[in-house]
Amino acid sequence: MTVDVTHDVVIVGGGIAGLTIAWELARAGRDVVLVEASEDAGGMLRRGAVAGLDADLGAESFATRTTGVADLVADARLPVQLVEPAPAGAHVAFRRRSGRVDRAPLPRRALVGMPADPTAADVVRIIGRAGARRAARERSMPWSSGPEPTLAELATSRYGARVTARLVEPLCRSVYSQGADSVRLSALHPVLWERAEALGSLTAAVDALAPAVRAGSAVRGVEGGLWRLAAELHAAALRVGADIRTGAPARAATATTVELDGETLSARAVVLATGPTAAAGLLHVEVAPAPPVGLIVAEVVADAFDAFPVGSGVIAAPDVDSAAKALTHVDAKWEWAAAALPAGTHLVRLSAQEGRQGELTDAAGAATAIRTLTGVRISPADVRRVIPIAWPDAVATPSARAAVTEAAATRGIRLAGAVAAGTGLASVIPHARALAAALTSSPTPSEGARHVR
Ligand SMILES: Cc1cc2nc3c(=O)[nH]c(=O)nc-3n(C[C@H](O)[C@H](O)[C@H](O)COP(=O)(O)OP(=O)(O)OC[C@H]3O[C@@H](n4cnc5c(N)ncnc54)[C@H](O)[C@@H]3O)c2cc1C
Repeated sequence: MTVDVTHDVVIVGGGIAGLTIAWELARAGRDVVLVEASEDAGGMLRRGAVAGLDADLGAESFATRTTGVADLVADARLPVQLVEPAPAGAHVAFRRRSGRVDRAPLPRRALVGMPADPTAADVVRIIGRAGARRAARERSMPWSSGPEPTLAELATSRYGARVTARLVEPLCRSVYSQGADSVRLSALHPVLWERAEALGSLTAAVDALAPAVRAGSAVRGVEGGLWRLAAELHAAALRVGADIRTGAPARAATATTVELDGETLSARAVVLATGPTAAAGLLHVEVAPAPPVGLIVAEVVADAFDAFPVGSGVIAAPDVDSAAKALTHVDAKWEWAAAALPAGTHLVRLSAQEGRQGELTDAAGAATAIRTLTGVRISPADVRRVIPIAWPDAVATPSARAAVTEAAATRGIRLAGAVAAGTGLASVIPHARALAAALTSSPTPSEGARHVR
């Protein structure tokens, strides 16, 4: 059978990955169609109205470990302003031996919770003097060249259990939505892992790579909300001629076709830029879906919050009993949010512990979690509005990534997004641009064969 090739590339999924590829291909003159299941593109960059402003209901910052986001903004001339978080920094909440929950600013120089100097005062404040003495031995320990252990095993064997429990685990769970026992450092932070292998020490690698300033500077944001990045990229892609269809779920995909309801698109190349479970469905592979990522955005009116009691936010060690594993005080972190909110009104994001989002969906539950994490006595009446959001396909587990990658390669389908690149814009965007470059460097149908068999 001869199938007419009508498009150069069809992309399934209009999150930041799909939009990046659509923009790149369209500006290179390629005939590109992007199909997005929801009514709005942007994926996990989504806006929601709360307290009179358009807040982020998904991702709200990006890591500066790569220049991927800044490069895209510059190259696409997106009219967005990249901003630094306020210098408040974030805290960690942990349980002392006495049972009391304590809070302390996160160490200024650390990566993935691993300190550059385990004996620095801000580290000792969290892991104690004995924990610091143990962690300081890391630099002189022999480096094992065996298979890479999980991040939890790695951190515990090299730095000791305190560093894992109070720094690495809370960081990993709040930033990457996965336990440290289910991920590897080489996947989370490949540059750090490579440097540690080269230097034979995590401490030495963190010391070499960690910014000389506080931890919060490892991320940046967008004035007015990160959702603007996707919205402006969408507009830019349309301007250069991309055909972006929303409310158009793909039902099946092959290397050269994408089936929609009532229509089949054919193309020289097909890119899946969906979440991992959706990609697995389109590729007909079985993967165990990861639990949804639950987030609550709450409007809080409480005087005690005016003083930014936990800086830009707080992450919880596993031994702190709370339905939320992390809290972001949005207006303490982003000056644009503070300027946009009415005086005395605060915006708080709570990331739910796995399976416990249900405890946070009303004012009483949100107030309890805020009290536990911040130590601030707020009442349910202080929580004026709660917006719960569940992201069902946000986490790409290593097994899902492996299964989806193999199935896509076997079928000749290209993969983009977090399932191919790892979580986060700093990984997803450069990967998407590299894939687009590979696609544009191959001949267009007019330059090559116009038919596939
Ligand atoms: C609460 C939360 C906070 C986060 N915080 C940060 C952060 O601070 N910094 C950071 O860098 N990252 C953060 N992330 C992760 C980041 O948002 C993602 O890594 C990134 O947005 C993934 O983009 P993507 O394009 O790969 O996928 P998505 O954004 O998931 O886009 C995939 C798109 O595919 C669509 N789709 C699915 N199935 C189909 C189908 N059959 N047909 C058509 N379309 C389909 C979906 O509707 C969706 O729009 C966060 C994520 C969440 C959920």
